[in-house]
Amino acid sequence: MNRSSISLGRILGIPIGVDYSWFLIFALLTWSLATSYFPVEFANWPVAQYWIVGAVTVILMFGSVLLHELGHSVVALRYKIPVRNITLFIFGGVAQIAAEPPSAMSEFWIAIAGPIVSFGLALIFGLLQTMLGALAPLLAVAKYLAYINGALGLFNLIPGFPLDGGRVFRAIIWGITHNLRKATLIAGNVGRLIAFIFILVGVWQIFTGNFGNGLWIAFIGWFLESAASSQIQQQTIHDLLAGHHVADAMRRDYTWILPDTTLEQLIDKHILGGGRRSLVVKQADQVVGLLTLHNVKAIPSTAWSSTSAAQVMIPMEKMKWIRPEADLVDALGEMDRDGVNQLPVMLGDQIQGILGRDDVINFLRTMSEFRRPQHSHSK
Ligand SMILES: [Zn+2]
Repeated sequence: MNRSSISLGRILGIPIGVDYSWFLIFALLTWSLATSYFPVEFANWPVAQYWIVGAVTVILMFGSVLLHELGHSVVALRYKIPVRNITLFIFGGVAQIAAEPPSAMSEFWIAIAGPIVSFGLALIFGLLQTMLGALAPLLAVAKYLAYINGALGLFNLIPGFPLDGGRVFRAIIWGITHNLRKATLIAGNVGRLIAFIFILVGVWQIFTGNFGNGLWIAFIGWFLESAASSQIQQQTIHDLLAGHHVADAMRRDYTWILPDTTLEQLIDKHILGGGRRSLVVKQADQVVGLLTLHNVKAIPSTAWSSTSAAQVMIPMEKMKWIRPEADLVDALGEMDRDGVNQLPVMLGDQIQGILGRDDVINFLRTMSEFRRPQHSHSK
């Protein structure tokens, strides 16, 4: 989970967080419900009631968004794909699913599960609405939530990748063509097209006097555009890395230390002095663990002189590692899956080097500098 979010605990073992940007949208939505939507729909309430009902509605609305994301997550977990976290933020929610779905079918079901949950909630709140006719404040909440869940389900079905509808669309093309690469590029480009339509509609609304709405639509368009572009870019990186192995990009000049080195010594010498982000811990020429910047940061600086590398390192038996002949694309996938930034490269019980994300980036950069453009000469 990133630093700009507050933890709400775990559901099904998945950490749930709220991004700080969420508070902005919470305040904005509560204000707009309390001062314009509810007073128009339900006249003659005390002012405080508008605000309380408004705040409760917005909290339940984000509860609905959370259930939508849990819908995706439950299906992902069924396919044995780990879900790293769920974060609520300004545009709603996002479930960080740690790997690409293994098949078109699994992608289809993971993607469609969210909108199915939203439509289910719309139905439940719609039914509640008919039962709560006499209780105005509860009726107001149910009516709004029925509407918003229906809208959420529909919005997410827009076929713009990476919205759910875009993923469903990609799964269908993937299923038909049996080519994930082609399906990603088609879905990404359709996603960009839809994003541009959003931006155009937003700008048009701004110039025709509907400033607030227009700005919001354009903003969503901009968000969708950058998401679709980064998806296309990711595919391009995969294409460049295809056929290359871990041994091609790994760093062989890794730094190693003894288990009884204190954190103070290694910070001065290797982290501040050498700029290393990870250190191999060796004893009698055998790797016994890996120490990352992350492990060191977890220890307060007052304890650095009394804590040894062995006390905070990731021990060999828990350490994630990769073989030198593994595909680079798979190595990146594994780093995503495990949420780590580097992997020791092991051949048997011997360490060959370290592969970090930055090494892969350097490899890509070098490759794009030295790759000669392909010329075709016609005779
Ligand atoms: Zn969704």
